[in-house]
Amino acid sequence: MVEIETLEQLTLKFGHAEDYLRNLFEKATGREISLTVTDNSTSMLSVKTKGKAVSVRLHRIFLEAGANVVDEIAEFIKKGGGKTPHIRDFIRGKRDILNKKVPRRLNAVTLGRHYDILNIYESINREYFEEKVSASITWGTKSPRRAVRRRTLGSYSSHSHMIRINPILDIERVPPYFVEFIVYHEMLHACLGVKNKNGRRSVHSKEFRELERRFRDYEKAMAWEKKSRI
Ligand SMILES: [Zn+2]
Repeated sequence: MVEIETLEQLTLKFGHAEDYLRNLFEKATGREISLTVTDNSTSMLSVKTKGKAVSVRLHRIFLEAGANVVDEIAEFIKKGGGKTPHIRDFIRGKRDILNKKVPRRLNAVTLGRHYDILNIYESINREYFEEKVSASITWGTKSPRRAVRRRTLGSYSSHSHMIRINPILDIERVPPYFVEFIVYHEMLHACLGVKNKNGRRSVHSKEFRELERRFRDYEKAMAWEKKSRI
């Protein structure tokens, strides 16, 4: 008991880790939970039950929720519904954050040598996401040439809520639609969240791949990536 309390205090202080929340929900409901933390403010909490599995989608603000809110979510999952006064209060208190459409620019470098990444982000947010994505975006830092071969063109961190785009894309040779595609891909991650099941993360789900194909220059971007070997 004492251990659990200590753990809870610690995680409350730093925000709930996804694994911690998922475990807590599994304990409270006695069911296997697949948890997805999203940035979708039109659906703050949704619970789908399919056979034995329960799939929970939760807005990222709940990572900072207190114990009464988290307990209420667990009850909600367990019963498949019910009254949610704590959850409602909590959402109301976060309204300012939720309504903020302009991404935080703190520590973000958006104007590159060739591309303005914030400009690209904002137009994609309008065109594909109804301006619902609130993650920050920045050009990443250049990694030394000898560094890892693995090419990461973009990344999204649900902890810092930050999209990073590799500055190797900030050159004229890289067509705009390709940079846009990489930004779109990372924004999809921010929007859909990362599914966490049994502590394993599945980032490119079937749903993700389907939405990815909706990008207007999807085929072109794929073809360019293959050809350029960037
Ligand atoms: Zn990805």
